[in-house]
Amino acid sequence: MTTLVHAALTLRRTARGSYGFVAATVFALLEVLGVFRVEPAQLGFEHALVGLVWCVVFTSRAMVRFRAPEGWAQGAKIDFELALLLLVAVHGVVQLGGGVTSVFYPLVYVVVATSASLARKPAGTLLVVSAVVLEALVFFIAENQQDPRALAVHAVFIVSFGILNLVFTRVEIARVRERSLRELAAEKEKVQEDARLYRLVGAATDSAARDEERVYRSSLEEVHHALYYTLDVLKKTLELHTCVLFFADETADEIRIAELVTDSDDIAEGPFGTGEGAVGAVAKRGLVTNLEHMKPGYKGLCYYRGPAVVSSFLGVPVMENGAIRGALCVDRRDDKPFTPRDEEILKSAVQQVLRAVRNEQVFVQLERSKREQTVLHKASQALGSALNEEAVLDAGLSAAAEISPYEFAAVTLYDNETKKHSVLRAVGESADELKGLVFRDNTSLTAMAVKNRHYLPYRGDFDEKQHVVYTRKHNLHGMQSLLILPLVVREDAIGTLCLAARRRDAFSNNVRPTLQVLGNQLAVSLANAASVRRLEELATTDGLTGCLNKRSFLDELDRKLRSAERFGRKLSLLITDIDHFKNVNDVYGHATGDVVIKELGAILRRMKRETDIVARFGGEEFCILCEETDTEGAVLLAERVREELGSHVFQTELGKLKVTASLGVATFPNDAKTQAALFETTDKALYAAKRSGRNKVCTVKDI
Ligand code: GH3
Ligand code: MG
Ligand code: MG
Repeated sequence: MTTLVHAALTLRRTARGSYGFVAATVFALLEVLGVFRVEPAQLGFEHALVGLVWCVVFTSRAMVRFRAPEGWAQGAKIDFELALLLLVAVHGVVQLGGGVTSVFYPLVYVVVATSASLARKPAGTLLVVSAVVLEALVFFIAENQQDPRALAVHAVFIVSFGILNLVFTRVEIARVRERSLRELAAEKEKVQEDARLYRLVGAATDSAARDEERVYRSSLEEVHHALYYTLDVLKKTLELHTCVLFFADETADEIRIAELVTDSDDIAEGPFGTGEGAVGAVAKRGLVTNLEHMKPGYKGLCYYRGPAVVSSFLGVPVMENGAIRGALCVDRRDDKPFTPRDEEILKSAVQQVLRAVRNEQVFVQLERSKREQTVLHKASQALGSALNEEAVLDAGLSAAAEISPYEFAAVTLYDNETKKHSVLRAVGESADELKGLVFRDNTSLTAMAVKNRHYLPYRGDFDEKQHVVYTRKHNLHGMQSLLILPLVVREDAIGTLCLAARRRDAFSNNVRPTLQVLGNQLAVSLANAASVRRLEELATTDGLTGCLNKRSFLDELDRKLRSAERFGRKLSLLITDIDHFKNVNDVYGHATGDVVIKELGAILRRMKRETDIVARFGGEEFCILCEETDTEGAVLLAERVREELGSHVFQTELGKLKVTASLGVATFPNDAKTQAALFETTDKALYAAKRSGRNKVCTVKDI
């Protein structure tokens, strides 16, 4: 019983949510049954009723559509429902008009085309399929036609209309989206341009600089506000036609309008060359310029597009620290010349303007130092807790990216003994080509930065024709900014941190000092990590041969035995011992003995597989541990080692020397089940090799 109720409820819920489908299907059935194949005169009550029901259903579903249903799937569903209702309605009209040959038929194309463009995916596609199916049913059942060619033509048209509209709409959407992106980028560029004009930034453009961008944006608003207010007051008190403030750009070749209050609607946008007319005289030469009784149509005021309609002009330069930064210019239509008092007012307005800009510069500077301090603090914590070189490099490079985003970064190390530089880490564009690069002490910027312990290049601009970062063959391309910082520890430069970016001014004065602090921290952390690594090596390896020492070998053996036991794998142990080594020492001396031991260590390390472990166990005795290796495999290795050492000729003061070695081999778990037993058995095999004449490999079989 409950199942029945449950099923009924589910049915009701589904019907409530999709009665548009139900209605459309019923209408389609009526059409297929030929209910609408009547003359207009035969239209009766039942047709009116069907029309009314359609109107009610369509209206109620359309209201749901415009209330914006939740989620894409729901939206696509209701779009499909509405399109289907329209389709059956159009088919009804077509039937009333005389069937698929009626003049109303093109309405079907209109419905398909509209739905394909406006409906959400996949409603358009579903509608095209439904239109073809409905048409086929009407064609064969309601109209009882036989020749499928007419149907095929319609189907092709329906599908083509659908696809064409879908494609056009998507292309149009992509076009609009691209235009909006372009406009957004242009707006951003404008903000940065303004910021540079007020010297607020060496504007960075990347996402990590978004915080800074917010600060500049609000600062710019403040500056604009203050400037506008000053100019507006001037305009009102001095009865001006135009009051305009110019700032020179960084190169001082051009001036731009920074703020303007005017009654004219004929203002040119600029930028203007500093050599131009009356404004040029003020902005280039710093001259206070007062023009009286100007002729109508005077052309010397660059900020008007056409001839000026003013009679008096006054311009005063904007000076900061003895340098001309711009000009404040005012003019009047009335022939009422500017007085010395007006000039004084203008000069004090200039001071006001400079104060506003300076205030904001200080504010931005403060914000920036606050941010830099946070980044540096975080970086030094990360660097301090990094235990190995990899972690130090990770922390250093990500902190550098936060200070100034880059497209390429690398750390090199300099080896004072071999006089060679090597790339320890490279990230970003074309970094793969540089990984592991080793190069001589050449005239590259990297080598020079290490030699002089000073960052390079001086201005932070990169010119790939002129600058070589590493070698001529391995240079950077497409970058405009570059900074190579020496990594200095105490008095020595141990390498460099190189950062490069595609944009200009990425590493100029405003960020370089912070990056230098980071560089110093990175250098110290790298040196620390290297000495920790050396200490570890000393503690785990043997000084003469560089092989593992006994203690570390036993630790490793313990681990490998446990894992072999757990996974049911074999593991073989080899012990080598040089034959009659006492004689070598006695005849050739201890130093030659050491050379022989060292050579045996080198041979073993050369011949072992990647996963094998070699250790000097004491004196002229070595152990090799071979994972996943049975006795047969281990004996092969042992034989190769024996032959290699046996064929090696040592040159000594007393002439040529050849030595041989004996080797014992045993395998876990076949020959022994514990560490101690494994050693004992291998030792016994070695003893068997010695006993049976030396220069031999023996196994358990020979004991
Ligand atoms: P056998 O064929 O039985 O192995 O004869 P052997 O003379 O090699 O005997 P054994 O392996 O017991 O000899 C060990 C000698 O190795 C004793 C010592 O003079 C020498 N020795 C041990 N450690 C060193 C070392 O670090 N350097 C040098 N030059 N000799 C060492
Ligand atoms: Mg020995
Ligand atoms: Mg020996």
